[in-house]
Amino acid sequence: MSQQIIPLTEIQKRLREFKLSGMMSALEIRLKQATEEGLSYTEFLSLLLEDEVNRRADNKRSKLYKKAKLPFEKGIEDFDFSFQPSIRKQEILELATCRFIEKKTNLLLIGQPGTGKTHLSVALALAALGRGKTVLFTTVWDMITLLQQSRADYSYQRKIQSYLVPDLLILDELGYRSMAESTVEDFFEIVSRRYERGSIIITSNRTLVEWDTVFIDKTLTTAVVDRLMHHCSLVEIKGESYRVRKR
Ligand code: ADP
Ligand code: MG
Repeated sequence: MSQQIIPLTEIQKRLREFKLSGMMSALEIRLKQATEEGLSYTEFLSLLLEDEVNRRADNKRSKLYKKAKLPFEKGIEDFDFSFQPSIRKQEILELATCRFIEKKTNLLLIGQPGTGKTHLSVALALAALGRGKTVLFTTVWDMITLLQQSRADYSYQRKIQSYLVPDLLILDELGYRSMAESTVEDFFEIVSRRYERGSIIITSNRTLVEWDTVFIDKTLTTAVVDRLMHHCSLVEIKGESYRVRKR
C-alpha cells in the first residue's frame, strides 16, 4: 500500500498544530544531519524528541523568569562583598542554596539606601529560579496599592492569592513611605497567610525598632513582626551606599 508523501512545509504546519514547535523548528536541520551522517531512524527521531524536550524546558524557564518580575538581573557573583564587610558572604551563599525556601522561613535585609539590599534579593531570586522555584518580586508600595485598587473591582481575593502562590515573595522597600491604616491590614494579611507556608524576603531601610512608625498601629506592628520574625534570618548591612562610592 503506497502512502502519500506529505511535503515538508505541511509536516511543519502539522507539528505546529500539535504544539510540537521544538520539533518543527529543528526538523529541517535534523533531516539534513540525518542524510549527511547517515543516522538511523531511531537516532533521527530521538534527536528530534530531544529538541522538543529542550524547547519546552526553555519555555518553562523563561516563563518562570518573566513571572518573577525582577527589576534587573544581577547575581551573587556580581556582588562585591569586600565593599560590605558587615555581610557574611557565607550566610548569603547558604541562603542561595534555597534551603530557607524549602523550610518556608523568611529573610530580612536591613540597611541604608544603596547598600545592596535589592541587589541581594534579586540575586537570591535568581538562585531560586535556577532551582525551579517560583518567585514574585514587588515593592511593598506596589503591592499595597494594587491590593487597594483590587477592592474596587472585586478582584481582591484573586490578587491576594497571587502573592500567596509563589515559593518566594520579595517585598522590596518597606518603610520608604509610611502606610495608610487600611493598607497595613493588607500587608498583614499577606504576611500572616504566608506564615509557615511560603518564604518572604523583606528589604527595609528601617531597623525593626522603627517599624512602629511604618505600620502606624502598634498592635499590628507587633503582630507583623511576630509572624515574620518567628522563622527568619536577619542580614543587617552596616555600610555605605555603593552608589556614593562610585561617584
Ligand atoms: P538598595 O536596594 O540597598 O538601595 P541596591 O541593591 O539597589 O541598593 O544597590 C544600588 C546599586 O549598587 C545597584 O546597581 C547594585 O547592583 C549596586 N551595588 C550595591 N552594592 C553592591 C556591591 N556590594 N557590589 C556590587 N554592586 C553593588
Ligand atoms: Mg533597593
